[in-house]
Amino acid sequence: MTEETPRPRPAPRGDLHTQFAVLPDPVTLFARRADRFAARAEGHELAPYLRFMAGIAQAQAALLPTLPPLAPVTAVTAEQAARAAEHAARAAEHGMPPIDRVRLADDPALTETISRFLQIVVAIPMPDPAAAALARLRADPAAQRQRLADALEDAVAADAIAEHVFIAAALQLHAARLAALLQADLLQPVGTGVCPACGGAPVACVLVDRPGAHNARYCVCATCATQWNAVRVTCVLCGATEGIAYHHIEGSDDGVAAETCNACQGYVKLLSQAEHPELDPMADDVASLGLDLLLQDAGWRRGAVNPFLTGY
Ligand SMILES: [Zn+2]
Ligand SMILES: [Zn+2]
Repeated sequence: MTEETPRPRPAPRGDLHTQFAVLPDPVTLFARRADRFAARAEGHELAPYLRFMAGIAQAQAALLPTLPPLAPVTAVTAEQAARAAEHAARAAEHGMPPIDRVRLADDPALTETISRFLQIVVAIPMPDPAAAALARLRADPAAQRQRLADALEDAVAADAIAEHVFIAAALQLHAARLAALLQADLLQPVGTGVCPACGGAPVACVLVDRPGAHNARYCVCATCATQWNAVRVTCVLCGATEGIAYHHIEGSDDGVAAETCNACQGYVKLLSQAEHPELDPMADDVASLGLDLLLQDAGWRRGAVNPFLTGY
């Protein structure tokens, strides 16, 4: 592992116009992620797991067009549109994310998405322990509710890791659809390392290459995939600006590094999409598990959340 301290880099261009939040596009998000998991599986020591993850993302993408439109955020009438905008404005005023995780636990549209996801995902190839976990979950609605409660808190019971993957995947699909219906310019910072759309934790950060935001850093929500702008060389876990360093696996040029922080001893991965546009925060986080193992051996604590890497 190679360690570097921050060096001066070209300042991000177009800072004045850098959008604070960028909403996900579920149609491309899951399809591209499926392709990326499949591509990373080639010759990888975790190939069977990465192929299973490609299947999960394919199931997310396949279910998407069959789901009924979401209410009430979907503005069918002018009155509903006004109500949704008012809710978002009120949430922003109080420094709260507009997607309320407490309410999601009882959202019938989410329960329906989970149940349909558990049906569609049966068809994908998966390791035997995952198939057993899926069968247990499908037979037990109470377990589905419990795993959903865990997923909404970005927490998992150690004995339910395999079940968690399926519920977290269904939650991602639902949350990304909800986030896609928000108004990006109404979102405001709600706290260090907290998604301004749903209050979730980041899976990783990306250096993007978008018009007006070349090499700007965005955190990506592990739940709803909303991206929010975060100043470079600042710990996204605790906000410290001193004692930041970057680590990557020696000799590798995969665009994946980890930003470590001396203040909180945590780290979050930083993926350079500016240099490697094909990087997907979820897929490449799982595929770069080797970097986590090196960092954790060296005493650093993983600060990001990834439901597909639970237990590491
Ligand atoms: Zn989110
Ligand atoms: Zn920190």
